[in-house]
Amino acid sequence: MTPPLPFPPRDSGAHKGDFGRVLLIGGSRGMAGSISLSAIAALHSGSGLVSVAVPDRCLETVASFHPCLMTIPLKDDARGQFCSAAICELTERIGPFDAIGCGPGMTVCEGAMEIVKLLLRQRNCKRVLDADAINCLAKMQWATAPASDAGPLVLTPHGGELQRLTGVNAKDREAQVDAAQSLAAHHGVTIVVKGGPTVVVDGDRRWTNDTGNPGMATGGTGDVLTGTITSLLGQGMTPWDAARLGVWLHGAAGDAAAKRQGQTGMTALDLLQSLAPLTAVFE
Ligand code: AMP
Ligand code: MG
Repeated sequence: MTPPLPFPPRDSGAHKGDFGRVLLIGGSRGMAGSISLSAIAALHSGSGLVSVAVPDRCLETVASFHPCLMTIPLKDDARGQFCSAAICELTERIGPFDAIGCGPGMTVCEGAMEIVKLLLRQRNCKRVLDADAINCLAKMQWATAPASDAGPLVLTPHGGELQRLTGVNAKDREAQVDAAQSLAAHHGVTIVVKGGPTVVVDGDRRWTNDTGNPGMATGGTGDVLTGTITSLLGQGMTPWDAARLGVWLHGAAGDAAAKRQGQTGMTALDLLQSLAPLTAVFE
């Protein structure tokens, strides 16, 4: 269990701005926890400044999860989902961020589709698309769109999301990894094919993770990974390196949580709490 690469070193005179301003976008009424897990994971993975953009009706809930989070309310509808007008505010706020993660708990509503389209256009910004952001890509048939250079972009689908995106059955993992690699080449992105084990691919490389355990098959663990990879991107890593170190760290946090709590009873919160002690190993 050796990490694929170290953390970027911390200079003694460093300030919080040196470790990335990151933004996590997602959540909806009834699913405010997922994007909060991502944002807190970003804090524990080393980000200096973490903001979360959520539907207005979720703001207090998300803000109350952690005092170090900054929250940005975006226009929502009566169901507490992003509405299309949310992108006006988001467009104004998006500039200063070093990395943006999007998707957990977002639902596939009209506003979410607009947000994903906006993020696809941000080719100079490092981005992670997960969960409902990937479901939005599937709905817009992104996999069969003309080939492109999407810029620094990481996708983190689980088997079901990858099936919706590529049409390849989640039960055929080998075929899913092949399809993910073709898609990665088609749009110039990095794809994290989650599972046991997780495989990271880009257009011409494959890397298989050696940390993690089936105790991680529980709600919210994927959201933690989204925040970790977004954080590492914000700290200056390339998509390929951030995806590999993020996946390794996330699995190692899962292993530490399983040791403490057991695979059966552990939750994504236990995994979150294991992240900080793990990053200490790199100091
Ligand atoms: P999600 O389905 O988006 O919540 O993501 C689940 C997370 O848990 C991913 O990072 C998976 O790689 C991880 N995971 C799920 N099942 C296993 C397993 N059997 N072995 C190792 N990791 C797993
Ligand atoms: Mg997920």
